[in-house]
Amino acid sequence: MKILVVNAGSSSLKYQLFDMDTEAVLAKGLCERIGIDGIITHKCPGKDNYKASVAFPDHKAAIECVLSLLVDKEKGVIGSVDEISAVGHRFAHGGEKLNKSAILGDQELEYLESIVGLNPLHGPPAISGLKACKEVMPSVNHVGVFDTSYYSNMEEHAYIYPIPYELYEKHKIRRYGFHGTSHRYVAAKAAEVLGNKDAKIITCHLGNGSSITATVNGKAVDTSMGFTPQDGVPMGTRSGALDPTVVTFIQKAEGLTAEEADKILNKESGLLGISGISSDCRDVSIAAEEGNPRAQLALKILVHHIKKLIGSYVAEMNGVDALVFTAGIGENDAPIRAAVCREMSFLGIEIDEEVNAKAPRGSFADISKAGAKVKTLVIPTNEEYMIALDTQNLTK
Ligand code: ADP
Repeated sequence: MKILVVNAGSSSLKYQLFDMDTEAVLAKGLCERIGIDGIITHKCPGKDNYKASVAFPDHKAAIECVLSLLVDKEKGVIGSVDEISAVGHRFAHGGEKLNKSAILGDQELEYLESIVGLNPLHGPPAISGLKACKEVMPSVNHVGVFDTSYYSNMEEHAYIYPIPYELYEKHKIRRYGFHGTSHRYVAAKAAEVLGNKDAKIITCHLGNGSSITATVNGKAVDTSMGFTPQDGVPMGTRSGALDPTVVTFIQKAEGLTAEEADKILNKESGLLGISGISSDCRDVSIAAEEGNPRAQLALKILVHHIKKLIGSYVAEMNGVDALVFTAGIGENDAPIRAAVCREMSFLGIEIDEEVNAKAPRGSFADISKAGAKVKTLVIPTNEEYMIALDTQNLTK
């Protein structure tokens, strides 16, 4: 069974074609600059990479180009589009109703359109991508996999904010959580490694956007991202959690509109805002090693917030069996992992610093110290595979 996974952004569309019988990725690529001009990068294992300028006036033109490349005699990997059994679509937000992966019919599409206010950045392009794919591939099922749905089992006390309850009822302001597909994937892998499906697991997805999730018995019980992906630990350019009054204070003190204040917190804060150097953790780390005090401070603040969340989740779950690092920073940045895990032996978290330092980048590694009560693992995330798997399970 071949499944196409699509992740549509406002001016981009990422795709991967999976052969689910072998779990192999047959082809993957990226359409960029949709609505501007258009570039496609297409990769198939064992073949030369292909990059070309193609006019992409809209998402439909991009997906048509992807399909023509997939069936191309030289650059392609399938004989006909009919070999694609179903399409899985990544959605950042499924609202309260789409609380598990689902085949997307008219009702679901209507609901997704009704909640774009909750998700103004990712919702509209993902819907455009879905509509384009449905138009071009009308005879197959299209499945939505939602980043928020992993958190649908969280208890009310974990997702209701302590603000007037009417605001939740009226505007659906609550903690939703994001990166759920990634946390679900790595938490399941960790449970497999532990041989314990009931395990208490803390997963740290640390990338350009970062979030931390607590999972018990395969279900998320709490997570650091909230109403939007702005909450939680400091990120590349996002502030993460802060005293809410800071926002209104900045607006008044700097004479800014709500949108301008939002831009500061979303695009100019986090590692970039503190260091003044870059949103990329590698650049900040290099500057810190060279002695730049603000770069050093940025990394200290990042580690401080990650530790605080880990501690709070251990308290919430009354223990932890595994701590997992994933995504760009989690999979590759051994010094950050070491700094997070240092002085946590009280919680049973102890790593072998040498094993951690030598852990191959972007690969699975057990970096726990021999005899440590808690397993500390590095697990590469694979959201696309999870989307393909859900799509297969719902359509086969
Ligand atoms: P996104 O959230 O955009 O998917 P990623 O998961 O790719 O982001 O993570 C990007 C972050 O990971 C950047 O801060 C980058 O510095 C960091 N990163 C990526 N590769 C490495 C590496 N080899 N060593 C250290 N940090 C890395």
